[in-house]
Amino acid sequence: MRAITVTPGVANSARLDEMPPPPAGDGTILVRNLALGVCGTDREIIAGEYGASPPGETRLVLGHESLGRVEEAPAESGFAPGDLVVGVVRRPDPVPCPACAAGEWDMCRNGLYVERGIKERHGYGAEQFRIEPAFAIKVAPVLGILGVLVEPTSIVAKAWDHTERIGARSHAWRPHTLLVTGAGPVGLLAAMMGAQRGLEVHVLDHSTGGIKPALVRDLGGTYHANGIAGLDGFEPDIVMECTGAPTLIRDVLGRTAPDGIVCLAGVTAPGHAFEFDIGRYNRTMVLNNETVFGTVNANHRHYEMAADALVRADSDWLKRLITRRVPIERWAEAFEHRPDDVKVIIEFES
Ligand code: BGC
Repeated sequence: MRAITVTPGVANSARLDEMPPPPAGDGTILVRNLALGVCGTDREIIAGEYGASPPGETRLVLGHESLGRVEEAPAESGFAPGDLVVGVVRRPDPVPCPACAAGEWDMCRNGLYVERGIKERHGYGAEQFRIEPAFAIKVAPVLGILGVLVEPTSIVAKAWDHTERIGARSHAWRPHTLLVTGAGPVGLLAAMMGAQRGLEVHVLDHSTGGIKPALVRDLGGTYHANGIAGLDGFEPDIVMECTGAPTLIRDVLGRTAPDGIVCLAGVTAPGHAFEFDIGRYNRTMVLNNETVFGTVNANHRHYEMAADALVRADSDWLKRLITRRVPIERWAEAFEHRPDDVKVIIEFES
C-alpha cells in the first residue's frame, strides 16, 4: 500500500512509499482511508522540527487527521464494515500515569504518551490503517467527507470543555463575548463552537482577502483584520488564542473582562524573548480573577463532542472550510502554503 512517510528530524525527507499492509498489532479494525487532513504539525514534521519515528525505525508514516471506511471489524467491536471512522491521535503512556489510567491521555503527566503520525507511532497517511476499537470514533454518515474535520474539532472541543470548567469556578459566570485569534481551521472551528453557544463572536486574523472574512460573517461573527490595536477597548469574556504567534500572545494576556479566560491553543517554537511588564500583567490577573491556561490534544469524550458539534453545524459552511482536495498521487502539493487555504485534505480514492 502507498503511504506518506518522513524521517523525523530531517528536513524535506517526506515521500510516497510502498509499505506492507498495516500490522495486526495496530488494532482489530481494518480501515480503508478516504481522506487525511493536513495541519501545521505535519508541516513542522516535514520541516524536520518536530516528531519522532517508532522505536527502532527511521521513518514515520505521517498523518493524524483521518477519515476512513471500516473494511473489517470483529463482531463484538461495536463497528461494522461500511462505518465511517476517525482514529484518535494519542495513546496513553504505558506506566500509566494517573491521567492516562483514567482515560485522560490528553492530560498525560509523564510525557510517555505516543501519538499516531507524530510521536513514535505510525500515522494514518496510508491507503489502509488498523485501529483499536477503543480508539476509533464513529462518524455519522450524514457528515461524509466532513468527518475529516473531527480531529481538529476535537482539539477545539477540549478547549471549550476546559474553558467552561474553569468558568464554573464562579456560579455567576455567564460569558457573552468571545475573541478568537487566528482564522485557520482551529480558530474557525473554535468560533463555530462559540456561535453554537450563543456567544458574540469576534475573530482576529491578518488576512484581508480570501474566504475567511465571509466564513466569520456567516457565523454571525465580526472579522477584524486591523491587528489588536483595532480592538481597543474591547474586553472579551473569553479569548481563544489559536495562532501561537508570540507578540499576539503577549497582547491578549490580561486583556479580558474581569473573570475572563484566555485559552492558549497554538503551539510556538521557543526562542522569542521580548520585554513584558509582568507587574502590570500580574496585577490585572489578580485583581480581575483572570485565568490563562494551555490546552493540547483531546480524549475520547472530546472526539464525541466534536462529532456532535459538526453534525449540528451548517454543512455548507463546513464544506467551505475544505479549500483544497489533493489526490494522493499529488500529495506533496497538499503541504504547500497557499494564501487562501483553510483546510487542505489528501484524498485516497478518486
Ligand atoms: C494534534 C494533537 C497533538 C499535538 C501535539 C496537534 O497537531 O492535533 O493531537 O497532541 O499536535 O503533538
